[in-house]
Amino acid sequence: MDLPAVFLWVWFAALGACFGSFFNVLIYRMPREMSIIKPASHCPHCKRKIPLWHNIPVLSWLLLGGRCANCKEPISIRYPIVEFLGLSLGFAAAFLAEPNHWQNANLIKSISLFWLIVTLIPIFAIDFKYLLLPDTITVGGILLGFVLSFFEGSIGWFSSLIGILVCGGGLFLFTVACSKILKKEGMGFGDVKLFAGFGAIMGTELAYVSLIIGALLAIIVIAPYRFFAKKDMQAPLPFGPFLGLAAPISYLFGNTIMVGFDLLVGV
Ligand SMILES: [Zn+2]
Repeated sequence: MDLPAVFLWVWFAALGACFGSFFNVLIYRMPREMSIIKPASHCPHCKRKIPLWHNIPVLSWLLLGGRCANCKEPISIRYPIVEFLGLSLGFAAAFLAEPNHWQNANLIKSISLFWLIVTLIPIFAIDFKYLLLPDTITVGGILLGFVLSFFEGSIGWFSSLIGILVCGGGLFLFTVACSKILKKEGMGFGDVKLFAGFGAIMGTELAYVSLIIGALLAIIVIAPYRFFAKKDMQAPLPFGPFLGLAAPISYLFGNTIMVGFDLLVGV
């Protein structure tokens, strides 16, 4: 299949909007420990179920003037914003993965990059506020990476499996060691599962490059923030958003970074 890449971009933008719609549900319900499947989308005011044609990302909110079709109470602008963010990030992911032609081998890259970029929405929205990472995203990443690894153009199922074990296992041991030695919670197990998913999607090496980038980003942002905001240096910090942000960077540029590093240290 060799179509102009614009088809791919538009298709992934639409998919991103649908993901945004799902993330709205996740962001609202997960910290409240509500099921993400039941009940179906409903108006928080009149409890009326929202029909599918009133649930089209961005468009429905605009056409209904930001109000519930039944009780006319306003619906938060957060909903179309998150959907539009999903749309934009979906477009960006497909554009970055495949700026020229839509070929089968690159579809795996587009899907992988789409997942790594679009899931930043719930990772940022939930982890910063609640120090939680939803299993839908973390375990979902492990499953997606492993399934994709059976298709042409992927890293291959063996590399994916090793990635899950070495990344998940490595960070798990590190977390356990930290809590034993420092006698306090280090990283959460949500981070361990998220990282195992990166191993599944991009393989061990690139995933560990993302871990290093994520740690550097966290230090650059958190240390000055805590210093100037006079926050407790011992308070638990969300690592997920930094690790998440590092993943697409490593997926796209990790190999270049590794080559550059090798040249630098002269190996
Ligand atoms: Zn209503």
